[in-house]
Amino acid sequence: MDIGFKILEKITLVALRALKPKDTEYFPEKNPEVRKKTERFRGRHFINAETCIGCYACERACPIGAIIMVPTGLKRPRAMPVVNLGRCCYCGLCEDSCPTKEKSIYLTEDYDILIKDVGINLTPLIDDLWAKPVGDITKNPLVVKDLKKQQQKEGK
Ligand code: SF4
Ligand code: SF4
Repeated sequence: MDIGFKILEKITLVALRALKPKDTEYFPEKNPEVRKKTERFRGRHFINAETCIGCYACERACPIGAIIMVPTGLKRPRAMPVVNLGRCCYCGLCEDSCPTKEKSIYLTEDYDILIKDVGINLTPLIDDLWAKPVGDITKNPLVVKDLKKQQQKEGK
């Protein structure tokens, strides 16, 4: 094929493409429709500090080591999970393995884990890449029970 024809073909393709509507949108400023979720969407994790029993099941179930158990400093639960959102493949096995009645770890519909304007301080970036336990750990039944036991022991 003649080289001139090839170039003309490419230019025509580019010109035609330029006339078509965009396939992508700026996120998150434009097109709120993009926020519509699909039923099977798996996004950022929610970890409930008020119900987690620190059993390590989620950590053991994670196929790629995206979960780290962080010590709480308490007798029970001894540790709670944090999830490295950059490493996670969003398979949902941690959620499936969690034994508490209401899942203490589950994948939400929140996919907005973009970080803007980080500047030269990378701390917010690093912080935001981890899903951490949320809630008041003093309301965790295990903590409440242990506290009561302790108080009974001390005769309070
Ligand atoms: S969803 Fe992420 S954190 Fe949970 S098991 Fe899968 S890879 Fe690990
Ligand atoms: S989130 Fe669930 S599976 Fe993970 S440590 Fe807590 S109770 Fe166990």
